Amino acid sequence: MLRFVLVLILVVLAARTFWRVVDGIIEGVTGRSTTGFPSRGVQMVRDPVCGTFVVPDRAVTLGDGRRRIFFCSTVCRDSYRARTA
Ligand SMILES: [Zn+2]
Repeated sequence: MLRFVLVLILVVLAARTFWRVVDGIIEGVTGRSTTGFPSRGVQMVRDPVCGTFVVPDRAVTLGDGRRRIFFCSTVCRDSYRARTA
């Protein structure tokens, strides 16, 4: 009985891994996420350093007291901070 449970757990884990891989392939082929992340209709913000548009949720942010500034990377954030400091 214990062996059956162990096998069952292994099967479930393998199935989950399998579907994650399949999801990744679908995402790569169609260019859209199957995990529910909205790729359209998201408010994009502009990185003031390099001009790249970034999704606020994934951006590196810097607060200057009144507002938040969004950057594509910590490199841009640091150079912005160095410029304005
Ligand atoms: Zn940038």
